[in-house]
Amino acid sequence: MFSVNLSGRVVLVTGAGRGIGRAIAQGFSDSGATVAVNDVDRTTATMTAGILHGDSGVYVADVSDSAAVQGMMNKILADFGRVDMVINNAGVEPRASILDMSDEDWNSAINVNLSAAFYTSRAAGRIMKEQGGGAIVNIASIAGHNIPIALRSGYVASKAGLVGFTRECAREFAAYNIRVNAVCPGVIETEMTAYLRENTAQMAKWLEDIPQKRLGIPEDIVGLVLFLCSDAARYLTGQAINVDGGKVML
Ligand code: NAP
Repeated sequence: MFSVNLSGRVVLVTGAGRGIGRAIAQGFSDSGATVAVNDVDRTTATMTAGILHGDSGVYVADVSDSAAVQGMMNKILADFGRVDMVINNAGVEPRASILDMSDEDWNSAINVNLSAAFYTSRAAGRIMKEQGGGAIVNIASIAGHNIPIALRSGYVASKAGLVGFTRECAREFAAYNIRVNAVCPGVIETEMTAYLRENTAQMAKWLEDIPQKRLGIPEDIVGLVLFLCSDAARYLTGQAINVDGGKVML
């Protein structure tokens, strides 16, 4: 497993109650960082905090709510005295054709997957600027490269927007020594993709297109996120990097 020393640093991981976010929170904890575990669900967030061994705290907030994000950031700063890294991981994937998609589903994709990253980056960016630096990693998707996926218009639009926001944020925040990158997973085995694994024909089709011939697991995402937050990545900003077994080669 990739190892890096992030002791003394404080990270916020959003949507860390399960799936990729939980694995990322564990990776940071293993690396010595203090982990602020966010989720909209207190039970799952508390379960994640329970498996971490260093300092951590549970911060229940809906990241699509601007005021809630600002309140959460204020609380993390009050509790730990700094915020060095933010991992924008919380996400939703409403599935419907454009003709059938409700306003509510469309707005939830845009608000949770895209606007939340703006809210956290603004709130954390102000703190990091004062501190003299930081790192932000946005968990986008291979869908963020404008790759259409059936019945995911809101998701694809939000993730493409997130890649665009990552670059804009990286450009602006470079002046404050804050690096901003995106990680773009392929299909990872989590609750979000359970529907896919239940559909044998669809699964076979996906696997056919993955050179490594397997789906990813949450732990496959962790090493890159840690690396991007480490000093080893000090000259790396504004990138959107695929972790997908080779499915998309740009
Ligand atoms: P997941 O298993 O569905 O977990 C997502 C977590 O985010 C859940 O704990 C969920 O809480 C939380 N969440 C949802 N809305 C939230 C909100 N408004 N505020 C705070 N927390 C919220 O998903 P995952 O597969 O781990 O995905 C994590 C990220 O990776 C997402 O951004 C996703 O788009 C991205 N991604 C995943 C894949 C994949 O194949 N799995 C591929 C590419 C990109 P609840 O349990 O309460 O809903």
